[in-house]
Amino acid sequence: MTPQERRETLESIAAEVRTCQNCRLGATRTNAVPGEGESETEVVFVGEGPGFNEDRLGRPFAGRAGDLLVKMLATLGWRRSEVFITNVVKCRPPDNRDPEPDEIAACLPYLRRQLEVLDPALVVTLGRHSMGRFMPGARIGQAHGTMAPADPETGARQALVYALYHPAAALRSTEVERQSYADVAGIPAALIEARRRGAEADPGAGTGVAMPPEPAAVAASALLAGRDEPVNPGPDSMTLF
Ligand code: SF4
Ligand code: URA
Repeated sequence: MTPQERRETLESIAAEVRTCQNCRLGATRTNAVPGEGESETEVVFVGEGPGFNEDRLGRPFAGRAGDLLVKMLATLGWRRSEVFITNVVKCRPPDNRDPEPDEIAACLPYLRRQLEVLDPALVVTLGRHSMGRFMPGARIGQAHGTMAPADPETGARQALVYALYHPAAALRSTEVERQSYADVAGIPAALIEARRRGAEADPGAGTGVAMPPEPAAVAASALLAGRDEPVNPGPDSMTLF
């Protein structure tokens, strides 16, 4: 798939999401939140579902949890516009209740299709509900900061999954916040491992980016594929999907 085809396919999925009424959340949302970011990225972040701010703006992680996520990415030298960010359910559950199993099931085909198109090396789950989709049976208290192969049924054919606490949980507990920063620091190593596995599974395909010889010694900011310049912390320009 060319970059343009990938962008167009993501945009057509997003257009379907914006008018979707496949579950009851469609009736109460203000805006559906399909997800957004870099279509050529190797790393996809998956949260639970839109909250108040996301519903108002139609963008994922647009409130305080999003601000914390941006701060955490910044510790790697990454900007949110360089990864793809989406959710398990695309419409806000009323009063921020947990999504119901039938709502999650109704919405999952969109996430699966997004992941098929993005074909990421690494899926980073944010919180229990997202983790539950990619690491069935795992418990967040044990699984945070660890990786496992993604079930190909999720649409992420070759990806590793890396679990984080939800940023909203980190906002409620300084201990979870501290642990979350420590877990985020493990993302570059997980990406390197994910690339290694991908190269083993598909020796013909390469990212075109030289593998760093010493993971620990490499600035994480140099890690995202396709990047030819160092990051300058300017205003966040965002491709909307
Ligand atoms: Fe459609 Fe998903 Fe929104 Fe339900 S939550 S209406 S399935 S987009
Ligand atoms: N929490 C989520 O899980 N997703 C969002 O998009 C925002 C907050």
